[in-house]
Amino acid sequence: MTTVHQPSISSVLQERRLVTAIPGPRSLELAKRREAAVAAGVTSVVPVFAERADGGVVVDVDGNSLIDLGSGIAVTSVGASNPAVVEASAAQAAAFTHTCFMVTPYEGYVAVAEKLNELTPGDHEKRTVLFNSGAEAVENAIKIARLSTGRDAIVAFDHAYHGRTNLTMALTAKSMPYKHNFGPFAPEVYRMPMSYPYRDTLGNDGVAAAQRAIGMMDKQLGADAIAAVVIEPIQGEGGFIVPAPGFLPTVARWCRDNGVVFIADEVQTGFARTGRWFASDHEGVVPDLITMAKGIAGGMPLSAVTGRAELLDAVHGGGLGGTYGGNPVACAAALASIEQMTVLDLPGRARSLETLIVGALTATAERLASQGREVIGDVRGRGAMVAVELVKAGGTEPDPHLAKSVAAAALAQGVIVLTCGTFGNVLRLLPPLVIGDELLGEALTILCDAIDSCAV
Ligand SMILES: *Cc1c(COP(=O)(O)O)cnc(C)c1O
Repeated sequence: MTTVHQPSISSVLQERRLVTAIPGPRSLELAKRREAAVAAGVTSVVPVFAERADGGVVVDVDGNSLIDLGSGIAVTSVGASNPAVVEASAAQAAAFTHTCFMVTPYEGYVAVAEKLNELTPGDHEKRTVLFNSGAEAVENAIKIARLSTGRDAIVAFDHAYHGRTNLTMALTAKSMPYKHNFGPFAPEVYRMPMSYPYRDTLGNDGVAAAQRAIGMMDKQLGADAIAAVVIEPIQGEGGFIVPAPGFLPTVARWCRDNGVVFIADEVQTGFARTGRWFASDHEGVVPDLITMAKGIAGGMPLSAVTGRAELLDAVHGGGLGGTYGGNPVACAAALASIEQMTVLDLPGRARSLETLIVGALTATAERLASQGREVIGDVRGRGAMVAVELVKAGGTEPDPHLAKSVAAAALAQGVIVLTCGTFGNVLRLLPPLVIGDELLGEALTILCDAIDSCAV
């Protein structure tokens, strides 16, 4: 559990290599089987089936090697088969795969809790509880907030994404595809305006945007009815929206002054992704509760709620848990993964990636603008969580069609890039933090060329 793993060297060749059309024949065969066996409601961004993945590449079943700018949605920050994670997981699986922490506890769970208590913002006394998915962590943070405050109302924001379970669907802003016809939703969830510098009339005035939301909370709900405010410090699925400076600290301070639990949903932004351990760190925000998942365990399913000891310890025995929560193999993977992030200084690496990505995208935006093709409305993000918002040339009208064609063109050249956003017009880049500079540079050239050739 405490062995120090050396920086890993990937055994998967770090190159872009196309040997068939995308998708190739073997992927097409599997797609046919999939169609007959797998529910149509679960769809995939990329039409190829994976065989191996690590570092900055995904190798498909036809032998194509694709450059990965998605990390399986911000999960495989240390690589998808990081040797240290693989070794730790295999050793734990060989020892035991499960006892259920609620039946027979084990050290790995405790060690992960210690680590999260240490790494998350703030030096107050903390406690941690582990689950399997991001949605489950958010649900439990809200259980804890309601019980400890004795209040019902939960505030979420425009463009928010918090998951696909009933309560987290209610917290999520976008109807299609996440909520459409899946109601009725959990009650006592209220939505407030977000700070969205590119589209917001308040622009870069984060304090004013916070006061707008605070005014509405005071008037429409009353502070003493609100159990929690839940917010992504940088919104993920909603469009990689970085709120204007001052927004988060002002909302957090108002929460503290009014006994409202401030929950930072760092499921996507956590674990070095934004260039700090947590996105809350950028503005010195100390959440009362923080939810984590995605990047936590090198690809193994694990999630957590960490926060003020008095909130977590207010819950009665047996009130929190779950059969698989904090599975021992996932805990071993998390410890190895977090150690890799430390040894390889992945927060620092995320900051270097930001320079490369923002540099390439900004240069492209300027070149296109100089030709009267102002389709890149905004380049934004922190660390290796960067987005371009695509618009109809010269204005701010979202262009989801362009985002789709660019992603398709990049994929045809062997680059995986994801889209997101309330308007579907955002290309989001979140490569594994262990991707090499050269590979990333190649992917950025292909992506920027794709924007250039798709923008008419
Ligand atoms: C992905 C995500 C979730 C949901 O996580 P799952 O593991 O898919 O349940 C919740 N919050 C945020 C911010 C996310 O990005």
